[in-house]
Amino acid sequence: MKRYCVVGSLNMDMVTRVERFPEPGETLRGLSFTIFPGGKGANQAVALARLGAGVEMVGALGDDVLGHRYGEVLAGLGIGASGVNVIPGISTGTASIEVTTAGENHIVVVAGANGTVTPAYLETRRALVESCDYLLLQLEIPLESVLLAAAMARGAGRAVILDPAPARELPPELVAQVSVITPNETEARLLTGEDTSTDAGIHRAGQWLLARGVGCVVIKAGARGAFLVTAEGCLQVPGFPVQAVDTVAAGDSFNAGLAVALGQGAPMAQAIRFANATGALSTTREGAQSAMPGLEEVRALMGGI
Ligand code: ADP
Repeated sequence: MKRYCVVGSLNMDMVTRVERFPEPGETLRGLSFTIFPGGKGANQAVALARLGAGVEMVGALGDDVLGHRYGEVLAGLGIGASGVNVIPGISTGTASIEVTTAGENHIVVVAGANGTVTPAYLETRRALVESCDYLLLQLEIPLESVLLAAAMARGAGRAVILDPAPARELPPELVAQVSVITPNETEARLLTGEDTSTDAGIHRAGQWLLARGVGCVVIKAGARGAFLVTAEGCLQVPGFPVQAVDTVAAGDSFNAGLAVALGQGAPMAQAIRFANATGALSTTREGAQSAMPGLEEVRALMGGI
């Protein structure tokens, strides 16, 4: 069994449904309130655990009620949390979201404890990062920590899978450490400056990343599946037709599926097919972590392989 490590964010997403947004100074009755565990890092760890993988999480929570609840979520899924620092005097990362009945939203994100995942903290968890087979990274902790984690894993001969989300430009020294980069079309456009609305543009974006030292480029393309760009060319791996109801965390599920299939020895195109099935299933249910599929469900969608 391969071992997986995720270095990244843990957030509690707090969603209030409203008829309309309040005016400044106005108090409004909301329709409902729900708290969901989220954060791209933890989402990927949860998706890996659902697929049966052994996972260690490295990150930080506040020593508050949300952080304690998150600790229970990780423990309930068997996710190793010795790398999750619990910090007094700072809040757990949060996303406060207001959604109107018309579907518009306002979102306020507070990094909170995620901001304390510094290079100095990562040094204290070096053994966890270096001992995994696959390291999964995203961009919701300080960028210098993402860079250090990638360098640690590569230095130990491990594979690094980077989800460059939320979208931003990346330092070339980070790009060069990455084994597999998995932008969606928007992120790929922002990273490379290429227009990714056409297949030719996607190919050029992939080549741009390959030229900067990435081992392999996988561009996620929603219902269309994903594109694999290598020195040999650009291959579309079609998505699975499903009734999508909520695409939140589809990308996180995809990355977990990709890592699990690669860990089982699948060639890249086949691993992308498994990732497409994992991502597709996560869109068929409401929510982020609660929507992530188990291994049997993914295999069934793929036709019993
Ligand atoms: P992100 O969530 O990072 O924006 P995408 O929207 O491209 O990325 O979704 C990630 C992956 O999830 C896709 O590559 C695809 O495999 C799957 N997926 C997303 N939306 C759908 C959909 N409507 N139908 C089928 N598969 C989907």
